Amino acid sequence: AQQAQSQSMTEALSQACDYYRAQLKTAPNAITYLKNRGLTGEVAARFGMGYAPSGWDNLRSVFPDYEMLALVESGLVIDKVDEDGGNKKRYDRFRERIMFPIRNTKGQVIGFGGRVLDNGEPKYLNSPETPLFQKGLELYGLFEARQPIRDAGYVLVTEGYMDVVALAQLGFPQAVATLGTACTSTHVQKLLRQTDNVIFSFDGDKAGRRAARRALEACLPQVSDNKTIQFLFLPEKHDPDSFVREFGADAFAQEINDAMPLSQFLLREVTGEHDLSTPEGRAATQYDAKPLLQAMTPSSLRLQIVRGLASLTESSPAEIESLFELSKPVSV
Ligand code: ATP
Ligand code: MN
Ligand code: MN
Ligand code: MN
Repeated sequence: AQQAQSQSMTEALSQACDYYRAQLKTAPNAITYLKNRGLTGEVAARFGMGYAPSGWDNLRSVFPDYEMLALVESGLVIDKVDEDGGNKKRYDRFRERIMFPIRNTKGQVIGFGGRVLDNGEPKYLNSPETPLFQKGLELYGLFEARQPIRDAGYVLVTEGYMDVVALAQLGFPQAVATLGTACTSTHVQKLLRQTDNVIFSFDGDKAGRRAARRALEACLPQVSDNKTIQFLFLPEKHDPDSFVREFGADAFAQEINDAMPLSQFLLREVTGEHDLSTPEGRAATQYDAKPLLQAMTPSSLRLQIVRGLASLTESSPAEIESLFELSKPVSV
């Protein structure tokens, strides 16, 4: 029964995707919006982008049985129950939005992100969590990026749909995005199955810096000596999309080249605002480093970070290992 349920959800999502794509071709306002953002029709087609027009029940034209359960279950329509009775009113979730289909690694559509064309709120509306679509597990663009990731030898992890699409258009098809959520350890696991080199490239704003910190924490238990994890920090007002459009592909390639290794980012994080010229500042740095180092499994890289921390804080690596109980096996 469960298989039949997810099959009808998958079919509904795929049909809706075709419908939104067809609508984009005849929506001058949506086409103008994408053109103004510098997108080509080619890259929009590559990502299956579409448009959900205005109107409350356009999907009726796609699904003559608008009452079928799969439409609610897949998040395409919303059931609103009247206050006074059980009188249900059903309507399309996505209206007047640019549509980004989200695919699983098999290429099946499992959900959508929809962007408003103006300054309306919310800027992005995503499908709700369904049995097919769990945000903490999925990465936007991974299906399209799988071969490019192999070719490039690394993956770029961004925050947004537009970052992925713009980077793909301008020569970096090896990009994926977390879906407006923090990078989870499942995300990291999925990424490290595709490649040994991960480069996080979040927005240059405060939210982006917080996302980088969360990504660091998600990575630590999975760090190993044959993998590299790096962080690319963009100028304050930029995200990958705006950066590559303003400064060009060569400048972005340079940023990729100069990305900060995880070890350096970790040591910068734990130093923070502490004054390393005082015993208190050095102690506070060690205090902040403790949970991060404890999250790592033993490796040469961990030892290197311990040595870096030791030299910053006028200690010896052995002192830090004993203080942080790093030699003790971690209980799971
Ligand atoms: P754009 O360039 O179109 O403004 P963006 O990707 O730069 O979009 P950000 O504000 O940086 O937008 O947000 C990053 C990502 O977070 C978005 O791509 C989207 O996945 C998610 N997001 C942003 N705002 C919302 C929201 N209101 N609800 C759900 N997800 C959101
Ligand atoms: Mn942002
Ligand atoms: Mn943006
Ligand atoms: Mn952004």
